Amino acid sequence: MIYQSTRSKALKADSLQAVLKGLAPDGGLYLPQQIDTIAFDWKCTLTEDTQAIAVRVLSALLPDFNNMPQLVEQAYTGKFETEELTPTVPVGEDYVLELFRGPTSAFKDVALSMLPQLLCAAKAQTGDTDTTLILTATSGDTGKAALAGFADVPGVRIVVFYPEEGVSPVQKAQMVTQAGANVQVCAVKGNFDDAQTGVKRAFAACAAGALPADSGVELSSANSINIGRLAPQVTYYFKAYADLVRANRITAGDPVDFVVPTGNFGDILAGYFAKKLGLPVGMLVCASNANNVLTDFLTTGCYDRRRPFHKTDSPSMDILVSSNLERLLYLVTKGDTDAVAQWMNSLNEEGAYTVPQGVLEKLKEEFWAGCCSDIDTALTIKEVWDAHGYLMDTHTAVAWNVAQQYKKAVGADRPVVVLSTASPYKFPAAVLAALCPQQQLTGDGFDQMEQLQSLTGVPVPKNLSGLRQRAVLHKDCIRPDQLLDYVLEAAKKN
Ligand SMILES: *Cc1c(COP(=O)(O)O)cnc(C)c1O
Repeated sequence: MIYQSTRSKALKADSLQAVLKGLAPDGGLYLPQQIDTIAFDWKCTLTEDTQAIAVRVLSALLPDFNNMPQLVEQAYTGKFETEELTPTVPVGEDYVLELFRGPTSAFKDVALSMLPQLLCAAKAQTGDTDTTLILTATSGDTGKAALAGFADVPGVRIVVFYPEEGVSPVQKAQMVTQAGANVQVCAVKGNFDDAQTGVKRAFAACAAGALPADSGVELSSANSINIGRLAPQVTYYFKAYADLVRANRITAGDPVDFVVPTGNFGDILAGYFAKKLGLPVGMLVCASNANNVLTDFLTTGCYDRRRPFHKTDSPSMDILVSSNLERLLYLVTKGDTDAVAQWMNSLNEEGAYTVPQGVLEKLKEEFWAGCCSDIDTALTIKEVWDAHGYLMDTHTAVAWNVAQQYKKAVGADRPVVVLSTASPYKFPAAVLAALCPQQQLTGDGFDQMEQLQSLTGVPVPKNLSGLRQRAVLHKDCIRPDQLLDYVLEAAKKN
């Protein structure tokens, strides 16, 4: 199977190279040319366990890897709270797909447990002996999950950049306490988009010669621009569907709608890949917080990032430039690389682009979009807790709220699956305030974790409860314009 850049058919790669490089040399993202025609027997997944589904999905999307079963086993065995990795839990008449049962309590663990395996295998198979320097911009969760995945992996260094004021105290504590001889964590003055843009610029500058080709160091990315990040996420759509069939809630073949709390558009795009592989996915519902650039885009066809940036209680979705949307645009235009390149250029230079009406209509056939304010997010957390005794985090609550909007708007009478992307204990202040709106919050994030546990009886995940005692190991803080120099210094530590 051939991969190519979303911006140029001439820039081809196999799946090993696509994982190694992360981003195509022209700034585009890698996609398989033949995703519509991959032979995939989705019905087999109905009776398989999660690891077997992962092997099947990853072998289909990344066919050049030898030994996928072994890579999957090494990635997941014993690392999650349950061996099914991602449980599907009934809540009211709908379902919550819990993606946060991994080592850092965020859904990013599903992909970032797998990516190091893929990267090391790709290096071994291609005889690549350079050091891989992973650069990652994080809105909070990717950073820790990537650090946990790559810590002390031979032949790899990782640098994580997070927005100084843009992550929760628990998220920050998770990152700055990360041990490992090959890890660096650095705050960037600004928001997530500043950090992400800085990282993209550093990639471009290094490709243009700032990092000499004979340096013995090559860059790669752990963000969802890397196809090795995206592909493992496809698995849990199949797993959830199989769970609904097993629960006799649907018959194999019935469409199921998935509601996804969205930031960089990676998670929801994985659902679109699952659909392309044959899974009967109905609507993919894109849920946003007050940074509702995607709601507007999927309603009007105009993507416009020239708007105020809101710091919300669901910070992992505080994003105005959703990188993976580029892949969707490529797919719905049947590979119109010129149009995609032009839109991305216009986004870069003017901050906006508009797709033709025909493209918008195609998008609307498969995607529905809605958004939810912080106030409604808090009300939703309380409502769901009071009605169903289910405790959800702020990101999940955004999606749950939008799911109800969706059901009302289209009169859907079939079950929806709401993807749950983080443990409520990663955002204890916001969740506690939602449950006890009359009370003044006291103490720090760790005190609030304990308060939330005694209030609800839902246990704090072990990886979070131990954080408070751990020493802070990373204190660097830079401006976005210093990011390239920081990267070049890190490359010298090789
Ligand atoms: C990353 C993240 C999201 C957004 O996922 P995308 O793939 O970027 O759309 C949503 N919720 C949480 C908790 C996250 O960490």
